[in-house]
Amino acid sequence: MKGELFVISGPSGVGKNTILNRLVEERENVRYSISATSRPIRPGEVDGVSYYFVSREQFEKMIAAGELLEFAEYVGNYYGTPLAPILEATEKGVDIVMDVDVVGALKIKKRVPSAVLIFITAPSFEEIRSRLVHRGDVAPEIMAERLEHAKWEYAQAYQYDYTVMNDTVDHAVARIGEIMTAAKQEKWIQSMGNTGGKLCFIPQCPHF
Ligand code: 5GP
Repeated sequence: MKGELFVISGPSGVGKNTILNRLVEERENVRYSISATSRPIRPGEVDGVSYYFVSREQFEKMIAAGELLEFAEYVGNYYGTPLAPILEATEKGVDIVMDVDVVGALKIKKRVPSAVLIFITAPSFEEIRSRLVHRGDVAPEIMAERLEHAKWEYAQAYQYDYTVMNDTVDHAVARIGEIMTAAKQEKWIQSMGNTGGKLCFIPQCPHF
């Protein structure tokens, strides 16, 4: 069976990176999609691991060559998902988890309707603000813009397949893991010719 796409979004500071790293470490056959970006590299980031850091000109060449599954401009910089590694992995049955903003996630859903969109929230907006401030890697003037953008992103969460609260990392990883397992089981059932609805986990149910 082919691998599936799991698209994770949520405002800056909500803890997506930690959750994604844990999913890749703890689940079998899962790979992280390394995005390309034109934003400057931050302390602690590694080119080719955190992102592929490219110039705006290089990014625009990638767009023109059709090398991206999707791209978006986020607070003045380009971000996009390279297509080739995703095709290669999913052909081999490897699932892909990716960190993509709301605009990019909705573009992916249009292009790949089977992609599962998961929006991560924090217990409160205050928590987001405090996590961003304490992370300390974003300049204050950009921070204000990111917080403003985060409010808009929250308003779009209804367009996602699932919303997951990051109250603790363990909880969030477990919930997303269940979503991934259920989505894959559903695809498997469908591939067996049963399109009759969701999988049921109750032994008495005829769909069990
Ligand atoms: P950051 O600059 O904090 O690393 O990321 C800023 C935003 O860009 C985050 O909301 C993240 O989800 C989004 N992002 C990261 N990679 C991609 C991508 O490949 N495509 C799109 N559309 N957004 C991305």
